[in-house]
Amino acid sequence: MRIFSGIQPTGRKQLGNYLGAIIHYVAGQDRGEGIYCLVDLHSLTVAYAPADLREYLYDTAAILLASGLDPERCIFFRQSDVKEHTELCWLLGSTTAYGELRRMTQFKEKADQQEFVSAGLFFYPVLMAADILAYQTNEVPVGEDQRQHLELARDVAQRFNARFGETFVVPEARIPEVGARIMDLQAPDKKMSTTGGSELGTVYVLDEPDAIRRKFKSAVTDSGRDVVRGPGKEGISNLVEILAVVRGLAPEAVEKEFAGSGYGAFKEAVGEAVAEYLAPVRKRYAELRPDERELERTLAAGADKARAIASETLRTVRARMGVGPPESA
Ligand code: ATP
Ligand code: MG
Repeated sequence: MRIFSGIQPTGRKQLGNYLGAIIHYVAGQDRGEGIYCLVDLHSLTVAYAPADLREYLYDTAAILLASGLDPERCIFFRQSDVKEHTELCWLLGSTTAYGELRRMTQFKEKADQQEFVSAGLFFYPVLMAADILAYQTNEVPVGEDQRQHLELARDVAQRFNARFGETFVVPEARIPEVGARIMDLQAPDKKMSTTGGSELGTVYVLDEPDAIRRKFKSAVTDSGRDVVRGPGKEGISNLVEILAVVRGLAPEAVEKEFAGSGYGAFKEAVGEAVAEYLAPVRKRYAELRPDERELERTLAAGADKARAIASETLRTVRARMGVGPPESA
C-alpha cells in the first residue's frame, strides 16, 4: 500500500491543513509506505518572493516533522530535488485535454486572486498528477478541495494506460469524513486557506495559544443558539467538526455534550481545545526549525529514496511514449 501526498511549502500552514491532511499523513506511516512531498514547484504558480520561498520551505518541513512525520518511517522530500516530477509533468501534459484543465475550479478561484495569471497555475493539476503517478500511488490523503484534481489524475492515468499499455496505478483519494473542509472562522462559506484568508479567520498551526483563543472567540456564527450542524449554521457546523477531530469524537457526540450550553461557552471550549492540541507541535517546531542543515540533510536523504522510485516509472513512461533512445541502447 503506497500513500503519497504533497503540501505547499507556504510556511504558515493552517488548521485545515493540519486536520484535513497532516494528521492523515502521520497515520499513513502505520498503514503503508508513506511518501510526502514539499511541493515547492507548485508554489511558483502564484505571486511569491524568492527569498521567502526557502525560509517558508524550512518552516513547513519543521511543522511536518514536529507533527510526527518520521523520516525513518516514511519518505519525506522536496519536489524540486527530484527532476522526474517536471519531466513526467510535461509528458503527461500532452495526454491531458486543454478542456479538462479549463474546468478546474481551483484554477478559476486562484486566477481571480492574481494580477498576473501564470500558465503554470493552469498546468498545476498536471504537475500534481505527475507527483502522484510517479510513485505508483494507491492512496492520496487530501482535503475536500483537492477532489477534482484527484479525479483528473485518475483520468490521466487511465487514459495513458489505455493508449500506451498498463503503466500507472490508478490512485484513490482518501478524504476524511470529518475535517476535510475546515472553514474560515470569519467567512464560514469559504475554506480556510494558507493564502487569501483574513488573519482573524485563519488559525495557523504555529499561532500562540492566546491568539488561537482570541480567533475562536471572534468566530462568526449565526443568530440561533443551538450547537448543532445544519444549513444556515456554517460557522457552528465548522466549530463542531473542529472540536470533533481534535477530541477524536464523532460530531454527534460534540453536539450532545454542548446541547444548551450557548455559543459563547462553546466557542471558548473549542479555542481552548485547539490551543492545547497544537501546543506540543509548536514546542517541537521551535526545537527543529533552527537547524537548517539538519533539515537539508533529511530532505536530501528523502529525495534519494524518492528518485529511486520515480526514475523507474519514468524509464517505462519514456519507452512507452517513444521518447529517447530505445531501452536496449
Ligand atoms: P492555498 O490556499 O495557498 O492553496 P492551502 O491552505 O490549500 O494553501 P495546500 O498546501 O494547498 O495548502 O494544501 C495542503 C493540504 O491541505 C491539501 O491536501 C489540501 O486539500 C488540504 N487543505 C487545505 N485547506 C484545507 C481546509 N480548509 N480543510 C481541510 N483540508 C485542507
Ligand atoms: Mg491548496
